[in-house]
Amino acid sequence: MSRTVIRGGLVITAAEEVRADVLIEGEQVVALATTGSAVADGWTADTVIDATGHYVIPGGVDAHTHMQMPFGGTTAADTFETGTRAAAWGGTTTIVDFAIQSVGSSLREGLDAWHAKAEGNCAVDYGFHMILSDVTENSLKEMDALVGEGVTSFKMFMAYPGVFYSDDGRILRAMQRGAANGGLIMMHAENGIAIDVLVEQALAAGRTDPRYHGEVRRELLEAEATHRAIKLAQVAGAPLYVVHVSAASAVAELATARRQGLPVFGETCPQYLFLSTDNLAEPDFEGAKYVCSTPLRPREHQAELWKGLRTGDLQVVSTDHCPFCFSGQKELGRGDFSKIPNGLPGVENRMDLLHQAVLDGHITRRRWIDIACATPARMFGLHPRKGTIAPGADADIVVYDPTAPQTISATTHHMNVDYSAYEGKQVTGRARTVLSRGSVVVDAGAWLGRAGHGRYQPRATCQYLG
Ligand SMILES: [Zn+2]
Repeated sequence: MSRTVIRGGLVITAAEEVRADVLIEGEQVVALATTGSAVADGWTADTVIDATGHYVIPGGVDAHTHMQMPFGGTTAADTFETGTRAAAWGGTTTIVDFAIQSVGSSLREGLDAWHAKAEGNCAVDYGFHMILSDVTENSLKEMDALVGEGVTSFKMFMAYPGVFYSDDGRILRAMQRGAANGGLIMMHAENGIAIDVLVEQALAAGRTDPRYHGEVRRELLEAEATHRAIKLAQVAGAPLYVVHVSAASAVAELATARRQGLPVFGETCPQYLFLSTDNLAEPDFEGAKYVCSTPLRPREHQAELWKGLRTGDLQVVSTDHCPFCFSGQKELGRGDFSKIPNGLPGVENRMDLLHQAVLDGHITRRRWIDIACATPARMFGLHPRKGTIAPGADADIVVYDPTAPQTISATTHHMNVDYSAYEGKQVTGRARTVLSRGSVVVDAGAWLGRAGHGRYQPRATCQYLG
């Protein structure tokens, strides 16, 4: 079995920061020892990685991606191959993507289809959530089986009537089932029925520009749906995870529920922390690049999201990576914002943007690792294999240069999309060396990984409860 030692770095986990050498055998971490100690100096290895002046952090866990997802008559531009390669470049070594149940089909058919897309193509490890879009007696039964085989979370939509939408009765039934079988309900919390009325009215009045996507998807309708989802979960006796929280008032709903001791959790995304309705208002249809749902909010919401991440009312930052090229895909919505495919690229940028947030004083280094690695791993049953550096954990490790300057750009990124949502943004810090289960996949600007190295990860139920 090959042995690797990472020497001289500052090891940062959600729990602590220690100057330590890390010993890897095969695919796993087997020991940490103080740098310069007799124990560490006694280790022999086939490969020594010098991490002097660098951080040694767990590989990122992005719990919300949509590789090659069909949406609005087109398909997200990153395949499992290109998307997981881009993830690795950015220091993310596990993704949890969403398999989709189509209305009228079984969960099994959806899951099989997504396994077929991913199998043999991923550069880093991956798991699946299941999108539950047709709650029937049969699909409720299927939830039990899926939990048993490691698909332990189910996303539902209060938005997108006629596509993914579930009414309150269906949501309640699925929550009750989840409460019984351990499956965690993830909620897209926006009142889609009301939003569709406002969309129709805006288009009828000639308001067709991308900025109106943000205006009709009202903050109140995110807060209302978040509140309703919390109450439904309370009635069902189920925990709840709200995806892509963007509105300050939705954070407040989560905070209130958490003060009451309810097991409700919230995720936000880099786009809500770093971008705003100013981007949606960019001229010449450029605003389409920033169309996603929930939508970007006015800039003042950002401070509330950062606060939520500091206080723990928000626990996770995922990307909701769902890239559509500006040319030929976003352009489908010229003259009708409701036809712009919803989604932004970001899987490659998350770790660096959140490191910049450390430098900007929004969060601490350990909180960076907590919200980007450790908590998503625990929330979705991947701990302690993923999200930390400890004996027994998979050797998914990033040697991170905290001083490297970087200008984010579509001309240099590895995502299969023709624009960057952060074009020209200067950040400090980037992954130098990235290991996935002990194998170096990125080193000093060179790609050393391969499609098919990434392995499917069956997941335990949520480890963030109790
Ligand atoms: Zn999503």
